[in-house]
Amino acid sequence: MALLDLKNLSIEYKLSDGKLKAVDDVSLTIDNGDILGLVGESGCGKSTLIKGIINLLPSNGKVTEGEVVFNDEVLNKLSVEDMRKKRWKEISLITQSAMNSLNPVYKVGKQIIEPMIEHDKTPKDEAMKKAEQLFELVGLEKGRLQDYPHQYSGGMKQRAIIAMSLALDPKLIIADEPTTALDVIVQSQILERINMLLNQYDGSMILVTHDISVVAQTCTKVAVMYGGKIIEYGDVNQVLKRPNHPYTMGLKNAFPSLVGDKKELISIEGTPPDLSKEIIGCRFAERCPFVQGKCRKGEIKKTSVKNGYFYCARAEERDELMKQADIPSTW
Ligand code: ATP
Ligand code: MG
Repeated sequence: MALLDLKNLSIEYKLSDGKLKAVDDVSLTIDNGDILGLVGESGCGKSTLIKGIINLLPSNGKVTEGEVVFNDEVLNKLSVEDMRKKRWKEISLITQSAMNSLNPVYKVGKQIIEPMIEHDKTPKDEAMKKAEQLFELVGLEKGRLQDYPHQYSGGMKQRAIIAMSLALDPKLIIADEPTTALDVIVQSQILERINMLLNQYDGSMILVTHDISVVAQTCTKVAVMYGGKIIEYGDVNQVLKRPNHPYTMGLKNAFPSLVGDKKELISIEGTPPDLSKEIIGCRFAERCPFVQGKCRKGEIKKTSVKNGYFYCARAEERDELMKQADIPSTW
């Protein structure tokens, strides 16, 4: 049984003059120990998918089709209260804005040990020891546990939130671009340490990022999202070494280096489709160097591969396209 099983999940937002399909028929699975990288350009639906998984969609957003199954339980049918109980302990979320969720009134250390004492009945001194270890893991001095949030910089708050999200050994961590306030090197160091920690208890993670080199370094699986759809999904080694979808092939050109300034990932010309309009044919057609007439018709069928899938109207010609794309074999 998979830890998380997304079954044909679709999510729509209601707009004043219509609707917007932000997530379109997404399926994927996460097993214990998996680290899934969710990549794609801004506006492709990554955060919406995450919010759908943990039942945190805004009031104008709703799951229109499909299911989120976590540990054999359908999450998108749970009440807000039942869902809240699962947070931190079973699924823990780290977002870009999470650093604002530190309570200004209490010392940071207290905020980290409290859930351990409450949920896990951990004795206070043990909880404090764990908090110190977690602080070390995210690169904060343990003395800082005695400080209030306002004494922290933005980057430090972000690190503290990461430490907090790891405190209860959650089965699944969902990190939506958790480290954007930190520089690239620190980012990869912290991710590596989170990984080591997850390894110790077979925890899993969904890591949302613009940065495919982070995925190559950190993840076991990857889902490439484009215009609300996962257009390619599979094992990292498979997908990054031997991409099947032209969009994934194109990501290679924009591979940012881990050394130096952070660059915008995608350098493929053009813009993604407007999700408030109906999309006919392949959603990448407008930007695809291999586009043909058949790419603009009907629905593109899914092609299954070992441990994954992709959506391309020219799937059978994949090897030929790959040659034309001239992708280096090493990533
Ligand atoms: P980014 O990389 O910039 O964080 P994303 O991949 O997380 O982008 P989403 O935030 O999920 O993308 O947005 C997906 C689509 O849904 C976009 O077209 C966005 O404009 C739209 N959208 C997001 N939130 C809402 C909302 N509350 N109401 C209406 N449309 C929304
Ligand atoms: Mg987002």
